[in-house]
Amino acid sequence: EAEGLTKAFRVPRSASGTTTLRALDGVNLSLERGETLGLVGESGCGKSTLARVLLMLERPDRGTLRFDGTDPLSLRGKELLAWRRRVQMVFQDPFASLNPRLNAAELIGEPWRTHRDVVPRGGRDRRVRQLLEMVGMREADAHRYPQEFSGGQRQRIGIARALALNPDVIVCDEPVSALDLSVQAQVLNLLAELQAELGVSYVFISHDLSVVRHVADRVAVMYLGQVVETGRTEEIFASPRHPYTAALLSSAPSPVGSEGPSRQRILLRGEVPSPVDPPSGCRFRTRCWRAEEVCAEESPVAEAHGADPTHTAACHLPLEPAPPVPAGSGPER
Ligand code: SF4
Ligand code: MG
Repeated sequence: EAEGLTKAFRVPRSASGTTTLRALDGVNLSLERGETLGLVGESGCGKSTLARVLLMLERPDRGTLRFDGTDPLSLRGKELLAWRRRVQMVFQDPFASLNPRLNAAELIGEPWRTHRDVVPRGGRDRRVRQLLEMVGMREADAHRYPQEFSGGQRQRIGIARALALNPDVIVCDEPVSALDLSVQAQVLNLLAELQAELGVSYVFISHDLSVVRHVADRVAVMYLGQVVETGRTEEIFASPRHPYTAALLSSAPSPVGSEGPSRQRILLRGEVPSPVDPPSGCRFRTRCWRAEEVCAEESPVAEAHGADPTHTAACHLPLEPAPPVPAGSGPER
């Protein structure tokens, strides 16, 4: 459970000065055991900063984290180290994230150098073989090096490595976007199988909505450092309430044979404003076709606008809970 997470960075503004970039501004999130939360938004929306905060690689300036009754922000030293193994990461580019000088067995077992008591020394070879098998690799692969594997195999090793510490949560940052389509499906299926088997939770960061729709139980949509809409995946896709979500969905190709209303394409005007100097009130207002005066004056608060209290949108004028965009209402550039 994350509440009010806020994180700012000092960034250079000109030759002389610095200014503040608010990467996260009041982010609330929750994640259940065995659940997948899809985190979507354009690049620069704060997804990666949020991931780093959830992994405790970055401390938030404000806000709280609660993990199974524990507040990880209050932990230090050994306790923090012990906590860290519960949240692991799978990276986008398995080639860049794996040390080319280590073979698969060494890569998978590397986290045990820091977390020594997870697997006793004498049991490590067996555990490596087990992990390889869990991710669909062969025993003989233990002695091969990253450059000898395909992209999909490298990502399997990345997953085995994340599993080596028996985490409760794995943050997957664009885990399949560097892979060919056919391989993407295999890796996504593997992640789903592992979840069913182990009950692990995923925070699944992706800009690819068709992937998110496929894997996520719930979705959180981010814009300029804030969560603007969250809800069950099916509901978000069938009936987005926030105009930004509707625009994102309308620009994504819908999967072949999928049911649901055909969407009018919404073209957003302008670019994402700089997080250094976000618009007043609703941050989306400079690109929103529904914006009115109130949108510039007051920041909208995330609220449930329909029957489902878990479906929330931060918008003064949310879309009707029906097929959203009436013809011609999206301004063309
Ligand atoms: Fe658009 Fe206003 Fe809603 Fe923001 S609050 S998304 S500007 S309608
Ligand atoms: Mg990123």
